[in-house]
Amino acid sequence: MSTVVRTVQPKGEGLAGCTIIDSASKIIESYADYLTDESGFGPSSAERLVFARSEKQIALVLKDVYERGEPVTVSAGRTGIVGGAVPTGGTLLSLAEMNGIVGIRRLPDGRLALTAEPGITIAELNNRVARKELGIAADLVTRELRSELEAFVTDDHAYFYPPDPTEDTAHLGATVATNASGARSFYYGATRKHVHRLRICLSNGEVIDVERGVYTAADGKFEIVLGDGRSITVRIPSYSMPETKNAAGYFVHPDVDLMDLFIASEGTLGVITEVEVILRRRPAGILSALAFFGSDGDAIEFVRQARGDLDDQPRPGAVVPMALEFFDSRSFDFLRRRKEEEGASSEIPELPDGARAGVLFEQEFEDEDSLMAAYEGWEELLDGHGSSMEQTWGGMEESDLTKLRALRHSIAEEVNGVIARAKAKYPEIHKIGTDIAVPHDKLREMFAYYHDTLAGMDLEYVVFGHIGDSHLHLNIMPVDLDQLRVAEGLALQFARQAVKMGGTVSAEHGIGKLKHEFLEALYGEDGLREMAALKRAFDPSGMLNRGVMFSADLLT
Ligand SMILES: Cc1cc2nc3c(=O)[nH]c(=O)nc-3n(C[C@H](O)[C@H](O)[C@H](O)COP(=O)(O)OP(=O)(O)OC[C@H]3O[C@@H](n4cnc5c(N)ncnc54)[C@H](O)[C@@H]3O)c2cc1C
Repeated sequence: MSTVVRTVQPKGEGLAGCTIIDSASKIIESYADYLTDESGFGPSSAERLVFARSEKQIALVLKDVYERGEPVTVSAGRTGIVGGAVPTGGTLLSLAEMNGIVGIRRLPDGRLALTAEPGITIAELNNRVARKELGIAADLVTRELRSELEAFVTDDHAYFYPPDPTEDTAHLGATVATNASGARSFYYGATRKHVHRLRICLSNGEVIDVERGVYTAADGKFEIVLGDGRSITVRIPSYSMPETKNAAGYFVHPDVDLMDLFIASEGTLGVITEVEVILRRRPAGILSALAFFGSDGDAIEFVRQARGDLDDQPRPGAVVPMALEFFDSRSFDFLRRRKEEEGASSEIPELPDGARAGVLFEQEFEDEDSLMAAYEGWEELLDGHGSSMEQTWGGMEESDLTKLRALRHSIAEEVNGVIARAKAKYPEIHKIGTDIAVPHDKLREMFAYYHDTLAGMDLEYVVFGHIGDSHLHLNIMPVDLDQLRVAEGLALQFARQAVKMGGTVSAEHGIGKLKHEFLEALYGEDGLREMAALKRAFDPSGMLNRGVMFSADLLT
């Protein structure tokens, strides 16, 4: 027995009105930005660039490409850092013009759900939700939707969409395709947790509409019945996934929800054409502060207690962290050096004397009482780890919050600046950044492994990131090609070590075209073959996002 899923009719207008650029040279001349993303991956090329405006147009383009057996790459906000949206020939399908909100409803269990096209940015989605002006096109507003809209606008509460992958120009559909997360996913969870329904266009142009809980695998299989009555059988791979936050490879489970196969599939199984997400009530306020510590070790122990990891040091009851972000001592040394080099014009804030590491913590509060209780709880925690509320930036002070934001911004900026200067001399140079998460009880071990391995090597590096999820980004800044090769080897070595500890090789950025070896380190050759078989079921000619996740050779 297997779960049967039937395809549905694609929605919207046909190809009239769809912008199609049919010449590789014109794409280079006028649309060069679409040939790159934040990874700098290349060389890239496309013979055709299509700006789809409807699901039907996506379906027609895919059907055409399918029949011709040509590759197609899906492009969104191009903030990805593993080359997934960079085309290497064939058609480039941009969803940037499918950027509307199309519906809102109360689910039977009382949660508020919003439906949008895939090309809306996370920033725009949240702006419209905050203003309660969804901008739904008039021709979509049925009588039922009008009453849902009225209820939303007159609701006393404000709402927001929690997943925040830092780069808020990312598109909704892409954040689903990559299961994006960010600082606050420690509390809210990654994108997967917030998606309720998806419409997906398969490689042959047929569409499925899947709502959470409706289609779960039976006997490790799904059967998709196509429009002409034929059916395809989809078998769920048998590998097991790390129990950490994870964005590497297909999400599998013997009774997996069909929707979950597509979340984090990086566009290799189908094109997401519509997304329904759950909105959350906005808290009255957020307590936000950056605490300073005398050593990396103190900062890490503070985090462990704040997470509730320590049996002998329980977390104060009122402390419920929403985000826990770390800056190691090398990040602070690096910022101090850069500030000195930049002189008076530097925008890097002056770090307090004696600050050797930092942890940014955040917590929601609903009223004055809960704020005070949280404040006192954090104060107690800080005092226990050689820090104090007096030594933090943030809390209630706007000037502190400004310094805090400037610090967060400057660390990434300064790393990018160093890389850009090296790149001017050696164009191949790029930052080597790990995306590893490990089980909580391995956090200290992994941190020590980084430093022990790099000790004595003449490489500039800093460690910062989502320590709440035991997900730290180690950023190596090579200055020449020899250092680049060494750093590339180290990144793979670190990934393998994380796997040995039960961790993942990619907690949020995905595999894309750059990290195939990392995926193999996680699931082995057999795991990759099972993944390739799953892809072949949905995409027999391997045309969708070719080269993303694993090499095309595995698909033949
Ligand atoms: C400064 C910076 C900070 C970042 N911080 C974070 C972070 O904290 N957390 C995090 O998770 N990520 C982070 N990222 C990575 C990136 O923002 C995310 O991966 C994001 O989800 C990519 O969205 P995008 O619209 O730019 O997608 P793109 O880069 O255009 O595409 C990403 C992938 O999704 C596929 N895709 C796009 N749309 C669809 C669709 N509708 N259907 C199927 N496949 C599709 C593409 O083919 C590609 O493989 C960061 C990036 C930068 C530059």
